[in-house]
Amino acid sequence: AQERYRSIRDKPAVTRCGARIALTMNAGLMADLPSLESSGAEGVGLFRTELQYLARNTMPRRTELARAYSHVLDAALGRRVVFRTLDIGSDKVLAYMKPADEPNPALGWRAIRIGLDKRGVMRMQLQALIRGARGRPLAIMFPFISQYEEYRDARGEVEKTLAIERRLGHALPASVEVGAMLETPSLAWAPERFFQEVEFLSIGGNDLKQFFFAADRENERVRRRYDTLSVAYLDFLEMIVGRCLRSNTPLSFCGEDAGRPIEAICLAAIGFRALSMRPSSIGPVKSLLLRTDLGELRAVMEAARDAGETSVRPAVMDYLRAQH
Ligand code: PEP
Ligand code: MG
Repeated sequence: AQERYRSIRDKPAVTRCGARIALTMNAGLMADLPSLESSGAEGVGLFRTELQYLARNTMPRRTELARAYSHVLDAALGRRVVFRTLDIGSDKVLAYMKPADEPNPALGWRAIRIGLDKRGVMRMQLQALIRGARGRPLAIMFPFISQYEEYRDARGEVEKTLAIERRLGHALPASVEVGAMLETPSLAWAPERFFQEVEFLSIGGNDLKQFFFAADRENERVRRRYDTLSVAYLDFLEMIVGRCLRSNTPLSFCGEDAGRPIEAICLAAIGFRALSMRPSSIGPVKSLLLRTDLGELRAVMEAARDAGETSVRPAVMDYLRAQH
């Protein structure tokens, strides 16, 4: 399949109307890294660090993690890699750190909530990230931030850890950016200072959508019941785009929907300029973006919404069919 898109692999994704969309890949295993070259990804927009913790029976050691992170940066050859800190709980449980049984694990003790309650675990990973990045830029992203204070606390840990590393005489990263995932609806209404302070945001659409529609992403009966292209959800996403534009906060979208070509062009039409996806999606998404006029598409989406449709999908599909 990658063969089909070889001719556009090294082309930037510029729409027919001239908008430049950055396409990066999601990764989590060392084995994913060769895809940076073969897919034409501009970097790693989401590196899921939990995989190094999941495939074993004991907590990994700091030196081991630092070595792994350093390899990831080596393989990226200077392209930006966004490391998401440990995102466990809910569907991802560590054998050696099993939480008490929870009635609703997706709404439970997970991700940054664990990190903030188990500071030693978080600090160890931050130290490994800082050591792995020595001399190079480092981008850290905290998962599942629901309110401003969680970001402020987590970011404080990065600063404390940097100060410790400096005192120990370790080489520091060339620069450190600290961002957050927006994957709970509450964060979209965080106070303005959150949008001012956070250095970048990435929408975790898999979680955000499950909470927006109250539909479990793991439950086959309901997970496809609500459309990503519904007017309600797109309006919500567009509100977030607007807040980020006003505060000058770099914004990307890294859930699975970013890798679906129709969804991807609609996300671009409401203002997303950075999408992160599995490597095999980059070709198909880029191919459709190159042929899309976002102004026209947007007009189609708005017309559907003004006509009282629940989803813009049928109108978008008709429009795309009429073009070919
Ligand atoms: C998401 O929630 O969209 C996301 C990218 O994170 P994960 O799928 O790992 O929860
Ligand atoms: Mg998530």
